[in-house]
Amino acid sequence: MKIDKNKVVSVNYHLTGKLDQEPEELIEQTSNEEPFVFLFGAGGMLEDFEKNMAGKQAGDAFDFHIKAGKAYGDHNSDYVAEIPKEAFHVEGKFDAERVKEGEELPMLDSEGHQMQGMVVEVGDKHVVMDFNHPLAGYDLHFVGSVLEIRDATAEELEHGHVHGPHGHHH
Ligand SMILES: [Zn+2]
Repeated sequence: MKIDKNKVVSVNYHLTGKLDQEPEELIEQTSNEEPFVFLFGAGGMLEDFEKNMAGKQAGDAFDFHIKAGKAYGDHNSDYVAEIPKEAFHVEGKFDAERVKEGEELPMLDSEGHQMQGMVVEVGDKHVVMDFNHPLAGYDLHFVGSVLEIRDATAEELEHGHVHGPHGHHH
């Protein structure tokens, strides 16, 4: 069986990412016991990830790169904002416990939508927050192998995701 539309695919991989000239860093590592399982062609995956997977069979290895622009987008400085420290006050005091460099925080935009931001810097008056996707700007590198391929069930196709172990639980 080959990887094609409406197949449920289990893969074991090692994903690293690279930001500009910095060294590759590990982003995600699956295992044979805890593989990554996805429904091919359901629109939930990066287009280039599926392009590289199409036609492979169980046991096949893969090793490919996806440039940031084709992955989670280039880093956009418009999504980096200086926010007055008062916005992070809890009971009249700046929440220094939670608002630290490198922490991810849920924030509300001006229309009340929730978005994830990462604290870049805590200054005297402002906090610099980055609302880009955490993998924005990263060139991705997938190395791994295909463990298993099966036909999706009618229910999985209707839902657009995988059920069962390692899949979606209702
Ligand atoms: Zn479902």
